[in-house]
Amino acid sequence: MWHIHHWRIQVPPLQEFRRRLLTRCAWCGERSTKADPVNVSHQYDRKRSHWWQGEPGLFHSDCSAIKAAHAACICDQPILDGDGDGYGHCAHCGRYRAYGTTPERLARMRELAAIPTGGRRPATD
Ligand SMILES: [Zn+2]
Ligand SMILES: [Zn+2]
Repeated sequence: MWHIHHWRIQVPPLQEFRRRLLTRCAWCGERSTKADPVNVSHQYDRKRSHWWQGEPGLFHSDCSAIKAAHAACICDQPILDGDGDGYGHCAHCGRYRAYGTTPERLARMRELAAIPTGGRRPATD
């Protein structure tokens, strides 16, 4: 492993170039750009890909949030198997609600979950 870390430290421009050239967002399929990099991973223990391939399992940060919202329970009246604190797996939708999900966060996740699979968040400013 040492030499891989070493290589990554020694040649960051190549790493960046490769990422920009080859890496596509696993959600929307679009490229990584400077303003909107594809650099969010949902996997903690990702296998290293070959250098000529784009890195799999990477997302734009927006797309990552949309994907997470699609995977989360956003029911009005969830049936959660946690200990009554408003989290756990929902028997209603089969998805998971994270511990400490606030009403504000839930409202935002509902907005993101309304975006179709593979879609991007509408630009807001
Ligand atoms: Zn994306
Ligand atoms: Zn639910």
